[in-house]
Amino acid sequence: MPELPEVETVVRGLRSRLEGRRVGELVFLSPHLGQKQPLPALGPDLYRGRKIDKIWRRGKMIIFNFSGGCGLLIHLKMTGQLYLCSPKHPVDKHTHARMTFADLSSELRFRDIRKFGFLNCLPTTEILTRVNSELGPEPLDLDFSGFQSRLKKHGGKKIKGWLLDQKIVAGIGNIYSDEILIRARIRPDRLADRLSPEETRRLFRAMKFVLRKAIELRGSSISDYVDSKGEKGKFQQKHLVYGREGLLCRRCRKTVIRRKKIAGRSSFFCPHCQK
Ligand SMILES: [Zn+2]
Repeated sequence: MPELPEVETVVRGLRSRLEGRRVGELVFLSPHLGQKQPLPALGPDLYRGRKIDKIWRRGKMIIFNFSGGCGLLIHLKMTGQLYLCSPKHPVDKHTHARMTFADLSSELRFRDIRKFGFLNCLPTTEILTRVNSELGPEPLDLDFSGFQSRLKKHGGKKIKGWLLDQKIVAGIGNIYSDEILIRARIRPDRLADRLSPEETRRLFRAMKFVLRKAIELRGSSISDYVDSKGEKGKFQQKHLVYGREGLLCRRCRKTVIRRKKIAGRSSFFCPHCQK
């Protein structure tokens, strides 16, 4: 599933091409998209001629603000893709929506094989209410004292589950939680409020480092993820533990990576490096 770095990469790509442009039309190609619209959903016809004021990210969600208070709230979930391509490019059965623009030959497509993702047409005020009630702070904006107080407040959770909980910090998923914990040298099943001051400091630094580095490398492409131009990311080449069960740890080079279900999710870690 695309996490913060992948979604940020998509957003940056779309922002540079689309901000300030006017919508030609927004068309739903699959009935399930219309059926999944939450109230008070706006009709796709309402977007015609509106200017894109802003494209931004909150957690793993992509948000479009249009002129006149219309918005789009998009979650790619497992297999969603949002990218620009030529209108001549064939539309397959997994493409659920397309948006055209004035003065731009490319169109925006929302493609999602497993259909867990959503593209909701909502007023921007409603989008703000939703994201602020569902999501904790952005990990790259969080300062150390805010980080410490959240560790204490939700201290009964295993640190893997703590990192995954979108209400505690928004945007981290299964890949980056494992990659953060190996760099912090902390086992994923440790309790959040039992970390030493030194471990807390390491975890905070590792969280910032991994997310920034992954954004710089345009995300991790494990299965379906592609950026707004349809290209793959490169951070998977830097993975130390994720997806490496049974392989030698890239950090210590003497212990085999283990996989264990922690906080309901498959977690990869090195029993030698992580205490
Ligand atoms: Zn190791």
